[in-house]
Amino acid sequence: MKKLARKKILITAGPTQEPIDPVRYISNHSSGKMGLALACQATKMGHEVLFIHGPIALEIPKAFKSIDVISASEMRQVVLKNASKHDIIIMTAAVADYRIQKPSLQKIKKTRQTLTLKLLKNPDILKELGRKKKKGQILVGFAAETQNLKQYAFKKLQEKNCDYIVANNVARPDIGFGSNENEVWLISANQNILFEKTTKAKIAQKILKRVTQAA
Ligand code: C5P
Repeated sequence: MKKLARKKILITAGPTQEPIDPVRYISNHSSGKMGLALACQATKMGHEVLFIHGPIALEIPKAFKSIDVISASEMRQVVLKNASKHDIIIMTAAVADYRIQKPSLQKIKKTRQTLTLKLLKNPDILKELGRKKKKGQILVGFAAETQNLKQYAFKKLQEKNCDYIVANNVARPDIGFGSNENEVWLISANQNILFEKTTKAKIAQKILKRVTQAA
């Protein structure tokens, strides 16, 4: 029987939180379930996992190493520090696209009728990883879309220099954010494969089987 090649896999998950003031933040609906399913399944398959996650309400098993972060800039720092040591990087995290330009050091009082927050675009971690991808490294991005799923995912594949994009339709209430099930397209330069609706654990197995074969 062919021996499993143990890969080093970095997986990100969950949302990031961008502070407004010491008690408030902006974030998104990512639950971290898909990323956690990938980390659990990869460990079961015998791979070495580093799990880097934003704030999530899930119990994280001790079977693999994990690092928790809050903001996109923290996630960027930790991911970039560890990226070159890994054969495969799977960016499941829903990294916030914008942060507050100047978070207030004190709690903002509700005295005004309107409040304007100036947002600044966060650096795209996946794009940076794509630019400095080392030879043989496999880069997997996620794309949460509400329309034109495959077209947008393919564009992302090229723009971010990824090997795969996992695309899911977040407009469907039965799959995606918070759900225990998912249905995804695995997009690569020469193939689009549909993994039909099933548990996130099974979707994770299918994704890992493909991407570890390529590494
Ligand atoms: O461009 P979009 O945000 O749709 O791309 C999603 C993919 O890019 C995900 O894999 C996500 O983890 C990654 N991403 C990132 N840094 C950002 C925004 C998204 O790494 N600032």
